[in-house]
Amino acid sequence: MTTVFKFGGASIKDADAIRNLTPLIEAHADRPLVVVVSAMGKTTNALEALLAAARDEGRGDDYRKRLDALGSSHQAIADALLGDEAQALKERIGNLVEALDDQHRRHRQGPFSRHYDQTVCYGELLSTTIVAEWLNRADVATDWLDARELVITDDHHQDANVDWKATSDAIRSQAGGSRNVLLTQGFIGGTAEGVSTTLGREGSDFSAAIFAHCLDAGEVVIWKDVTGLFNADPRRFGNAVQLKRLSYAETIELAWHGAKVIHPKTLGPLKQKEIPLTVRSFETPDAPPSTITSDTRFDTDLPSCILRDDQVLLEVKPKDFSFMDEPRQHDILGRLVEAGMHANLIDGGAMQLTLCLDNMAERLEPLMESLDADYTLQRQEGLTLLTVRHPSGSILERLSEGRDVLVERRNATTAQRLFRTVECPETWYIPD
Ligand code: ASP
Ligand code: MG
Repeated sequence: MTTVFKFGGASIKDADAIRNLTPLIEAHADRPLVVVVSAMGKTTNALEALLAAARDEGRGDDYRKRLDALGSSHQAIADALLGDEAQALKERIGNLVEALDDQHRRHRQGPFSRHYDQTVCYGELLSTTIVAEWLNRADVATDWLDARELVITDDHHQDANVDWKATSDAIRSQAGGSRNVLLTQGFIGGTAEGVSTTLGREGSDFSAAIFAHCLDAGEVVIWKDVTGLFNADPRRFGNAVQLKRLSYAETIELAWHGAKVIHPKTLGPLKQKEIPLTVRSFETPDAPPSTITSDTRFDTDLPSCILRDDQVLLEVKPKDFSFMDEPRQHDILGRLVEAGMHANLIDGGAMQLTLCLDNMAERLEPLMESLDADYTLQRQEGLTLLTVRHPSGSILERLSEGRDVLVERRNATTAQRLFRTVECPETWYIPD
Protein backbone atom coordinates (compact mmCIF):
# COMPACT_ATOMS: atom_id res chain seq x y z
CA MET A 1 0.00 0.00 0.00
CA THR A 2 1.13 3.53 -0.72
CA THR A 3 2.41 5.73 2.08
CA VAL A 4 2.48 9.51 1.73
CA PHE A 5 5.01 11.60 3.67
CA LYS A 6 4.76 15.36 3.90
CA PHE A 7 7.68 17.57 4.88
CA GLY A 8 7.00 21.24 5.60
CA GLY A 9 9.28 24.25 5.27
CA ALA A 10 10.90 23.86 8.70
CA SER A 11 11.96 20.27 7.97
CA ILE A 12 14.03 21.38 4.94
CA LYS A 13 15.10 24.82 6.04
CA ASP A 14 18.85 24.24 5.51
CA ALA A 15 21.38 21.64 4.37
CA ASP A 16 21.48 19.84 7.74
CA ALA A 17 17.70 19.60 7.79
CA ILE A 18 17.69 18.11 4.27
CA ARG A 19 20.39 15.59 5.27
CA ASN A 20 18.15 14.60 8.15
CA LEU A 21 15.41 13.47 5.70
CA THR A 22 17.50 10.60 4.36
CA PRO A 23 17.27 8.29 7.41
CA LEU A 24 13.55 9.06 7.82
CA ILE A 25 12.89 7.99 4.23
CA GLU A 26 15.33 5.07 4.32
CA ALA A 27 13.66 3.73 7.45
CA HIS A 28 10.47 3.33 5.45
CA ALA A 29 11.27 0.51 3.02
CA ASP A 30 7.71 -0.07 1.72
CA ARG A 31 6.86 1.28 -1.69
CA PRO A 32 5.15 3.13 -3.24
CA LEU A 33 6.25 6.08 -1.12
CA VAL A 34 5.11 9.54 -2.19
CA VAL A 35 7.00 12.41 -0.55
CA VAL A 36 5.31 15.82 -0.68
CA VAL A 37 7.56 18.77 0.10
CA SER A 38 6.91 22.48 0.77
CA ALA A 39 9.15 25.40 -0.04
CA MET A 40 12.22 25.76 2.20
CA GLY A 41 11.85 27.66 5.47
CA LYS A 42 10.19 30.98 4.87
CA THR A 43 10.65 30.97 1.07
CA THR A 44 6.94 31.46 0.32
CA ASN A 45 6.94 34.65 2.39
CA ALA A 46 10.07 35.79 0.52
CA LEU A 47 8.32 35.08 -2.80
CA GLU A 48 5.31 37.11 -1.71
CA ALA A 49 7.61 40.03 -0.91
CA LEU A 50 9.32 39.57 -4.28
CA LEU A 51 5.93 39.62 -5.97
CA ALA A 52 5.00 42.91 -4.27
CA ALA A 53 8.29 44.43 -5.45
CA ALA A 54 7.75 43.07 -8.98
CA ARG A 55 4.34 44.73 -9.22
CA ASP A 56 5.60 48.10 -8.06
CA GLU A 57 7.15 50.11 -10.92
CA GLY A 58 9.34 52.10 -8.54
CA ARG A 59 10.96 49.11 -6.80
CA GLY A 60 13.10 47.67 -9.59
CA ASP A 61 16.27 47.56 -7.45
CA ASP A 62 14.50 45.97 -4.54
CA TYR A 63 13.04 43.37 -6.90
CA ARG A 64 16.52 42.51 -8.29
CA LYS A 65 18.00 42.24 -4.81
CA ARG A 66 15.26 39.91 -3.67
CA LEU A 67 15.51 37.76 -6.79
CA ASP A 68 19.29 37.44 -6.35
CA ALA A 69 18.87 36.59 -2.68
CA LEU A 70 16.42 33.82 -3.56
CA GLY A 71 18.86 32.31 -6.06
CA SER A 72 21.92 32.60 -3.84
CA SER A 73 20.24 31.22 -0.72
CA HIS A 74 19.19 28.08 -2.62
CA GLN A 75 22.59 27.79 -4.29
CA ALA A 76 24.27 28.07 -0.90
CA ILE A 77 22.26 25.06 0.26
CA ALA A 78 23.32 23.14 -2.87
CA ASP A 79 26.96 24.00 -2.04
CA ALA A 80 26.57 22.92 1.57
CA LEU A 81 25.00 19.62 0.48
CA LEU A 82 27.13 18.67 -2.50
CA GLY A 83 30.38 20.66 -2.16
CA ASP A 84 32.53 20.29 -5.29
CA GLU A 85 29.74 18.43 -7.07
CA ALA A 86 27.14 21.16 -6.69
CA GLN A 87 27.73 22.84 -10.07
CA ALA A 88 25.04 21.10 -12.15
CA LEU A 89 22.44 21.57 -9.42
CA LYS A 90 23.39 25.23 -9.03
CA GLU A 91 22.86 25.71 -12.74
CA ARG A 92 19.40 24.18 -12.51
CA ILE A 93 18.60 26.50 -9.60
CA GLY A 94 19.84 29.43 -11.72
CA ASN A 95 17.57 28.33 -14.59
CA LEU A 96 14.56 28.15 -12.29
CA VAL A 97 15.28 31.66 -10.98
CA GLU A 98 15.55 32.91 -14.56
CA ALA A 99 12.25 31.25 -15.44
CA LEU A 100 10.72 32.94 -12.38
CA ASP A 101 12.05 36.31 -13.54
CA ASP A 102 10.49 35.65 -16.94
CA GLN A 103 7.10 34.85 -15.34
CA HIS A 104 7.23 38.16 -13.48
CA ARG A 105 7.87 40.00 -16.73
CA ARG A 106 4.89 38.31 -18.33
CA HIS A 107 2.41 38.70 -15.48
CA ARG A 108 3.38 41.83 -13.53
CA GLN A 109 0.78 43.96 -15.34
CA GLY A 110 -1.92 41.28 -15.16
CA PRO A 111 -4.32 40.17 -12.42
CA PHE A 112 -2.69 39.75 -9.01
CA SER A 113 -3.87 36.21 -8.21
CA ARG A 114 -2.78 34.76 -11.53
CA HIS A 115 0.60 36.46 -11.22
CA TYR A 116 0.85 35.11 -7.66
CA ASP A 117 0.42 31.50 -8.71
CA GLN A 118 2.77 31.73 -11.71
CA THR A 119 5.58 32.90 -9.46
CA VAL A 120 5.05 31.69 -5.88
CA CYS A 121 5.05 28.06 -7.13
CA TYR A 122 8.82 28.43 -7.66
CA GLY A 123 9.42 27.96 -3.93
CA GLU A 124 8.32 24.34 -4.18
CA LEU A 125 9.95 23.83 -7.59
CA LEU A 126 13.27 24.96 -6.12
CA SER A 127 13.02 22.93 -2.91
CA THR A 128 12.03 19.68 -4.63
CA THR A 129 14.77 20.08 -7.24
CA ILE A 130 17.34 20.24 -4.44
CA VAL A 131 15.83 17.49 -2.30
CA ALA A 132 15.47 15.08 -5.27
CA GLU A 133 19.10 15.61 -6.22
CA TRP A 134 20.23 15.11 -2.65
CA LEU A 135 18.24 11.88 -2.19
CA ASN A 136 19.56 10.40 -5.43
CA ARG A 137 23.14 11.25 -4.41
CA ALA A 138 22.43 9.62 -1.06
CA ASP A 139 21.43 6.43 -2.94
CA VAL A 140 17.72 6.79 -2.31
CA ALA A 141 16.36 6.28 -5.85
CA THR A 142 13.95 9.17 -6.36
CA ASP A 143 11.76 10.41 -9.23
CA TRP A 144 10.84 14.10 -9.33
CA LEU A 145 7.21 14.66 -10.31
CA ASP A 146 5.68 18.01 -11.31
CA ALA A 147 2.56 18.45 -9.17
CA ARG A 148 1.26 21.00 -11.67
CA GLU A 149 0.62 18.09 -14.04
CA LEU A 150 -0.91 15.87 -11.36
CA VAL A 151 -3.07 18.03 -9.11
CA ILE A 152 -5.50 19.35 -11.70
CA THR A 153 -7.54 22.35 -10.59
CA ASP A 154 -9.80 25.11 -11.86
CA ASP A 155 -8.35 28.59 -12.35
CA HIS A 156 -9.51 30.02 -9.03
CA HIS A 157 -6.02 31.32 -8.39
CA GLN A 158 -4.53 31.32 -4.88
CA ASP A 159 -7.26 28.97 -3.66
CA ALA A 160 -7.82 26.60 -6.57
CA ASN A 161 -10.45 23.85 -6.47
CA VAL A 162 -9.33 20.32 -7.25
CA ASP A 163 -10.84 18.46 -10.19
CA TRP A 164 -10.87 15.08 -8.46
CA LYS A 165 -11.53 12.97 -11.55
CA ALA A 166 -8.75 14.51 -13.63
CA THR A 167 -6.38 14.54 -10.63
CA SER A 168 -7.05 10.93 -9.79
CA ASP A 169 -6.47 9.85 -13.41
CA ALA A 170 -3.22 11.83 -13.63
CA ILE A 171 -1.86 10.66 -10.27
CA ARG A 172 -2.78 7.02 -10.81
CA SER A 173 -1.18 6.91 -14.23
CA GLN A 174 2.06 8.63 -13.15
CA ALA A 175 2.52 7.66 -9.54
CA GLY A 176 1.11 4.17 -9.03
CA GLY A 177 3.33 1.19 -8.40
CA SER A 178 6.83 2.72 -8.59
CA ARG A 179 9.80 1.28 -6.67
CA ASN A 180 11.43 4.70 -6.52
CA VAL A 181 10.54 7.39 -4.03
CA LEU A 182 8.12 9.75 -5.77
CA LEU A 183 9.02 13.26 -4.77
CA THR A 184 6.62 16.10 -5.56
CA GLN A 185 5.61 19.60 -4.52
CA GLY A 186 2.96 20.48 -2.00
CA PHE A 187 0.75 23.56 -2.34
CA ILE A 188 0.82 23.76 -6.15
CA GLY A 189 -1.29 22.42 -8.96
CA GLY A 190 -2.20 23.32 -12.51
CA THR A 191 -5.21 23.75 -14.74
CA ALA A 192 -6.00 21.33 -17.57
CA GLU A 193 -4.51 24.02 -19.86
CA GLY A 194 -1.21 23.93 -17.98
CA VAL A 195 -1.48 27.20 -16.03
CA SER A 196 0.05 26.97 -12.52
CA THR A 197 -2.26 27.32 -9.52
CA THR A 198 -1.91 27.17 -5.74
CA LEU A 199 -4.16 25.61 -3.12
CA GLY A 200 -3.98 28.28 -0.40
CA ARG A 201 -1.19 29.12 2.05
CA GLU A 202 0.05 26.17 4.08
CA GLY A 203 -1.70 23.94 1.55
CA SER A 204 0.98 21.24 1.35
CA ASP A 205 -0.82 19.10 3.92
CA PHE A 206 -3.82 19.17 1.64
CA SER A 207 -1.59 18.10 -1.29
CA ALA A 208 -0.48 15.08 0.74
CA ALA A 209 -4.12 14.21 1.36
CA ILE A 210 -4.92 14.57 -2.36
CA PHE A 211 -2.16 12.09 -3.31
CA ALA A 212 -3.22 9.71 -0.54
CA HIS A 213 -6.88 9.86 -1.54
CA CYS A 214 -6.15 9.24 -5.21
CA LEU A 215 -3.76 6.36 -4.52
CA ASP A 216 -5.89 4.75 -1.76
CA ALA A 217 -2.90 5.11 0.53
CA GLY A 218 -2.54 3.17 3.76
CA GLU A 219 -1.22 6.13 5.76
CA VAL A 220 -0.20 9.78 5.59
CA VAL A 221 2.63 10.99 7.83
CA ILE A 222 3.09 14.72 8.34
CA TRP A 223 6.58 15.39 9.70
CA LYS A 224 6.66 18.47 11.95
CA ASP A 225 8.93 20.20 14.44
CA VAL A 226 6.53 19.12 17.18
CA THR A 227 5.78 15.53 18.20
CA GLY A 228 2.11 15.73 17.26
CA LEU A 229 -1.11 17.58 17.89
CA PHE A 230 -1.45 19.44 21.16
CA ASN A 231 -4.43 21.00 22.94
CA ALA A 232 -2.69 24.37 22.45
CA ASP A 233 0.38 25.60 20.58
CA PRO A 234 3.26 24.29 22.72
CA ARG A 235 5.37 27.29 21.62
CA ARG A 236 2.91 29.67 23.25
CA PHE A 237 1.33 27.66 26.05
CA GLY A 238 3.53 26.49 28.90
CA ASN A 239 1.27 23.56 29.83
CA ALA A 240 0.07 22.26 26.44
CA VAL A 241 -0.67 18.53 26.38
CA GLN A 242 -0.21 16.25 23.36
CA LEU A 243 -3.37 14.59 22.04
CA LYS A 244 -2.18 11.15 20.92
CA ARG A 245 -5.42 9.82 19.42
CA LEU A 246 -8.05 11.98 17.76
CA SER A 247 -10.93 11.62 15.33
CA TYR A 248 -11.05 13.35 11.96
CA ALA A 249 -14.09 15.30 13.19
CA GLU A 250 -12.36 16.71 16.27
CA THR A 251 -9.20 17.50 14.28
CA ILE A 252 -11.22 19.34 11.63
CA GLU A 253 -12.71 21.52 14.38
CA LEU A 254 -9.28 22.36 15.79
CA ALA A 255 -7.77 23.03 12.36
CA TRP A 256 -10.77 25.09 11.26
CA HIS A 257 -10.44 27.35 14.29
CA GLY A 258 -6.79 27.97 13.49
CA ALA A 259 -4.71 25.28 15.17
CA LYS A 260 -1.74 25.55 12.85
CA VAL A 261 -0.62 21.94 12.93
CA ILE A 262 -2.73 20.75 10.00
CA HIS A 263 -4.39 22.57 7.13
CA PRO A 264 -8.16 22.16 7.58
CA LYS A 265 -8.70 20.93 4.00
CA THR A 266 -6.49 17.91 4.69
CA LEU A 267 -8.96 15.88 6.71
CA GLY A 268 -11.90 15.56 4.29
CA PRO A 269 -10.15 13.52 1.56
CA LEU A 270 -8.60 11.25 4.20
CA LYS A 271 -11.83 10.71 6.10
CA GLN A 272 -13.65 9.70 2.91
CA LYS A 273 -11.27 6.78 2.48
CA GLU A 274 -10.51 6.21 6.16
CA ILE A 275 -6.80 6.84 5.65
CA PRO A 276 -5.09 7.36 9.02
CA LEU A 277 -3.01 10.51 9.47
CA THR A 278 0.01 10.50 11.75
CA VAL A 279 1.78 13.65 12.91
CA ARG A 280 5.40 13.00 13.94
CA SER A 281 8.50 14.98 14.78
CA PHE A 282 11.37 14.95 12.30
CA GLU A 283 13.64 15.93 15.19
CA THR A 284 12.59 13.11 17.51
CA PRO A 285 11.05 10.51 15.16
CA ASP A 286 10.82 7.89 17.91
CA ALA A 287 8.66 10.06 20.16
CA PRO A 288 5.05 8.87 20.35
CA PRO A 289 3.14 10.66 17.56
CA SER A 290 -0.48 11.77 17.25
CA THR A 291 -2.73 9.58 15.12
CA ILE A 292 -5.99 10.68 13.58
CA THR A 293 -8.60 8.16 12.45
CA SER A 294 -12.40 7.89 12.33
CA ASP A 295 -12.38 6.41 15.85
CA THR A 296 -14.00 8.94 18.19
CA ARG A 297 -13.43 6.97 21.39
CA PHE A 298 -10.26 8.80 22.33
CA ASP A 299 -11.56 12.35 21.79
CA THR A 300 -11.28 14.00 25.17
CA ASP A 301 -13.18 16.79 26.86
CA LEU A 302 -9.86 18.41 27.68
CA PRO A 303 -10.12 22.07 26.68
CA SER A 304 -8.13 23.06 23.58
CA CYS A 305 -7.06 26.68 23.16
CA ILE A 306 -6.30 28.39 19.87
CA LEU A 307 -4.95 31.91 19.44
CA ARG A 308 -5.24 33.76 16.15
CA ASP A 309 -3.33 37.03 15.95
CA ASP A 310 -3.49 39.87 13.46
CA GLN A 311 -7.26 39.90 13.31
CA VAL A 312 -9.46 42.66 11.96
CA LEU A 313 -12.93 43.38 13.32
CA LEU A 314 -15.27 44.71 10.68
CA GLU A 315 -18.67 46.07 11.68
CA VAL A 316 -20.97 46.41 8.69
CA LYS A 317 -24.19 48.48 8.85
CA PRO A 318 -26.62 49.26 6.03
CA LYS A 319 -26.31 52.95 5.04
CA ASP A 320 -30.08 53.37 4.80
CA PHE A 321 -30.64 52.33 8.42
CA SER A 322 -32.48 49.16 7.35
CA PHE A 323 -32.31 45.80 9.11
CA MET A 324 -29.49 43.35 8.76
CA ASP A 325 -31.91 40.78 7.35
CA GLU A 326 -31.09 37.61 5.41
CA PRO A 327 -30.81 39.26 1.97
CA ARG A 328 -28.34 41.78 3.44
CA GLN A 329 -26.32 39.05 5.13
CA HIS A 330 -26.37 37.06 1.91
CA ASP A 331 -25.07 40.07 0.02
CA ILE A 332 -22.23 40.74 2.49
CA LEU A 333 -21.11 37.14 2.78
CA GLY A 334 -21.27 36.83 -1.02
CA ARG A 335 -18.83 39.71 -1.33
CA LEU A 336 -16.62 38.06 1.27
CA VAL A 337 -16.51 34.88 -0.81
CA GLU A 338 -15.77 36.92 -3.93
CA ALA A 339 -12.83 38.57 -2.18
CA GLY A 340 -11.50 35.10 -1.27
CA MET A 341 -11.84 35.78 2.44
CA HIS A 342 -13.03 33.63 5.29
CA ALA A 343 -14.64 34.95 8.49
CA ASN A 344 -13.13 33.48 11.64
CA LEU A 345 -16.15 34.70 13.58
CA ILE A 346 -19.55 36.04 12.47
CA ASP A 347 -21.94 37.77 14.81
CA GLY A 348 -25.11 39.65 14.05
CA GLY A 349 -27.55 42.18 15.46
CA ALA A 350 -30.65 43.91 14.12
CA MET A 351 -28.68 46.62 12.39
CA GLN A 352 -25.23 45.18 11.91
CA LEU A 353 -23.09 42.23 10.95
CA THR A 354 -19.79 41.77 12.74
CA LEU A 355 -16.98 39.90 11.02
CA CYS A 356 -13.59 38.87 12.33
CA LEU A 357 -11.10 38.42 9.49
CA ASP A 358 -7.41 37.69 8.95
CA ASN A 359 -5.58 40.90 8.13
CA MET A 360 -4.66 40.08 4.52
CA ALA A 361 -4.31 43.51 2.91
CA GLU A 362 -4.47 42.40 -0.73
CA ARG A 363 -7.88 40.80 -0.13
CA LEU A 364 -9.22 43.00 2.63
CA GLU A 365 -8.81 46.30 0.76
CA PRO A 366 -10.85 45.24 -2.31
CA LEU A 367 -13.51 43.84 0.04
CA MET A 368 -13.69 47.11 1.99
CA GLU A 369 -13.94 49.04 -1.24
CA SER A 370 -16.79 46.88 -2.50
CA LEU A 371 -18.73 47.09 0.80
CA ASP A 372 -18.10 50.79 1.27
CA ALA A 373 -20.54 51.70 -1.53
CA ASP A 374 -23.56 50.28 0.32
CA TYR A 375 -22.62 50.00 3.96
CA THR A 376 -21.12 51.99 6.78
CA LEU A 377 -17.95 50.26 7.90
CA GLN A 378 -16.07 50.33 11.14
CA ARG A 379 -12.74 48.61 11.31
CA GLN A 380 -10.41 47.80 14.17
CA GLU A 381 -7.04 46.11 13.83
CA GLY A 382 -4.43 44.55 16.10
CA LEU A 383 -6.76 41.98 17.63
CA THR A 384 -6.39 38.41 18.84
CA LEU A 385 -9.12 35.78 18.58
CA LEU A 386 -9.09 33.15 21.31
CA THR A 387 -11.06 29.97 20.63
CA VAL A 388 -11.59 27.34 23.32
CA ARG A 389 -12.98 23.92 22.39
CA HIS A 390 -14.71 22.14 25.28
CA PRO A 391 -14.64 25.26 27.46
CA SER A 392 -15.13 23.96 30.99
CA GLY A 393 -15.95 26.30 33.88
CA SER A 394 -14.74 29.83 33.46
CA ILE A 395 -11.70 28.99 31.34
CA LEU A 396 -12.52 31.56 28.64
CA GLU A 397 -12.93 34.32 31.22
CA ARG A 398 -9.73 33.38 33.00
CA LEU A 399 -7.69 33.26 29.82
CA SER A 400 -8.87 36.68 28.73
CA GLU A 401 -8.87 38.30 32.18
CA GLY A 402 -7.89 41.96 32.12
CA ARG A 403 -8.20 42.21 28.35
CA ASP A 404 -10.32 44.55 26.37
CA VAL A 405 -12.92 42.09 24.96
CA LEU A 406 -14.75 43.32 21.84
CA VAL A 407 -16.82 40.28 20.82
CA GLU A 408 -17.78 37.03 22.49
CA ARG A 409 -19.56 33.98 21.11
CA ARG A 410 -20.22 30.57 22.55
CA ASN A 411 -22.12 27.37 21.98
CA ALA A 412 -22.06 23.99 23.75
CA THR A 413 -18.63 22.94 22.44
CA THR A 414 -16.81 26.14 21.47
CA ALA A 415 -16.33 29.60 22.99
CA GLN A 416 -14.56 32.56 21.41
CA ARG A 417 -13.41 35.98 22.52
CA LEU A 418 -11.87 38.70 20.42
CA PHE A 419 -9.62 41.15 22.26
CA ARG A 420 -6.87 43.65 21.69
CA THR A 421 -3.50 41.96 21.21
CA VAL A 422 -1.06 42.47 24.06
CA GLU A 423 2.25 43.53 22.58
CA CYS A 424 4.77 41.87 24.88
CA PRO A 425 5.78 38.28 24.19
CA GLU A 426 4.19 36.11 26.82
CA THR A 427 3.67 32.51 27.81
CA TRP A 428 0.10 31.41 28.22
CA TYR A 429 -1.21 28.79 30.61
CA ILE A 430 -4.46 26.86 30.31
CA PRO A 431 -6.15 27.23 33.70
CA ASP A 432 -7.38 24.01 35.33
N1 ASP B 1 4.98 26.82 0.98
C1 ASP B 1 3.58 27.07 1.16
C2 ASP B 1 3.38 28.04 2.31
O1 ASP B 1 4.32 28.39 3.00
C3 ASP B 1 2.80 25.84 1.38
C4 ASP B 1 3.06 25.09 2.66
O2 ASP B 1 4.06 25.34 3.32
O3 ASP B 1 2.26 24.23 3.03
O4 ASP B 1 2.28 28.47 2.50
MG1 MG C 1 4.81 25.90 5.40
